[in-house]
Amino acid sequence: MTVEELTKLRHKRYNATVVSLKLLNPDLMVLRVKPDFPRPPHHPGQYCTLGLGYWERRTEACQVETLAAADVTKVVRRAYSISCSVLNEAGHLMRLEENDWLEFYIVLVRENFDGRVPALTPRLFALVEGDRIQIGERITGHYTLDPVKPGDTVVFLGTGTGEAPHNYMTWELLSRGHTGKIVNACCVRYSRDLGYHDIHRHLMAQFPNYEYLALATREPGVTRRVYIQDLITCGELEEHTGAALDPATTHVFLCGNPKMIGVPHHDRETGATSYPEPVGVIQVLEARGFAADVAATKFKGNVHFEEYW
Ligand SMILES: Cc1cc2nc3c(=O)[nH]c(=O)nc-3n(C[C@H](O)[C@H](O)[C@H](O)COP(=O)(O)OP(=O)(O)OC[C@H]3O[C@@H](n4cnc5c(N)ncnc54)[C@H](O)[C@@H]3O)c2cc1C
Repeated sequence: MTVEELTKLRHKRYNATVVSLKLLNPDLMVLRVKPDFPRPPHHPGQYCTLGLGYWERRTEACQVETLAAADVTKVVRRAYSISCSVLNEAGHLMRLEENDWLEFYIVLVRENFDGRVPALTPRLFALVEGDRIQIGERITGHYTLDPVKPGDTVVFLGTGTGEAPHNYMTWELLSRGHTGKIVNACCVRYSRDLGYHDIHRHLMAQFPNYEYLALATREPGVTRRVYIQDLITCGELEEHTGAALDPATTHVFLCGNPKMIGVPHHDRETGATSYPEPVGVIQVLEARGFAADVAATKFKGNVHFEEYW
């Protein structure tokens, strides 16, 4: 492709600018994108799409991609939750109306063996500040704080970048003076993957009802591998919420790896519910009187979830 053709394609397909790109480690970034249009109205917890042309460069050491000639001029889009750094530089809760950008928390998927070569993240990780990008004009999604009442206990359980929407929802709860306990737990492989750890430490110091729990399952020196499911079964989560998990006054939000979430299958004819293997958090919580949302029937329970794949 000639430089002129490239410039023309970018001009036609992109509608936003990368205003900040912070690499937390080579495979993890906080990205801020300013759309050419006003920030679309939205609620914390929701997502929009980001896209880049297949013609863009891929970062090094990622799975090799073979493209058909007809695909080279197409744009690959993926969904991303809107994230939030919660505090401004002065250490106070951000005033989001002052921002004209949206924040994203993204992990590089270097390879994948289920038949789909990762297309977007290898290109996102080759971006630099000032580059142009495509952003979806709508921010959407059911994963919000709508069902939460003031005073409820709110538990966020995420894996990896699944903490992105939880950080934004945490900002909303703290900004509106939520009085109930807020526990935000995140499970990663190594502690270098806890991109917002310092912010959470500051938040805990400022807000007595806020607690962040970091679990790193493969960190050298970690002798006890604790997954999110274990936190609940061994009673450790309740030590942090300060009371037994009461379905009447607790909302649990689950985001990230589908295996952690474990969405059940509801058989329409028999009414039977079956859970996937390995045991996910929904199964553990439903055995304790909680009920997960059911998208097909629009049932809203007290366990809400967003699967990333
Ligand atoms: C509603 C929604 C919100 C999302 N929000 C985020 C977000 O805030 N941050 C983010 O990093 N990702 C998020 N994702 C995942 C994102 O859409 C992409 O799938 C991901 O960035 C990989 O894109 P890709 O084109 O490189 O690879 P893809 O072809 O999309 O994915 C290939 C494979 O990579 C694995 N994978 C995908 N996402 C992840 C991940 N986050 N961590 C580990 N493995 C993964 C899966 O096995 C998947 O099959 C979200 C997905 C959904 C549906």
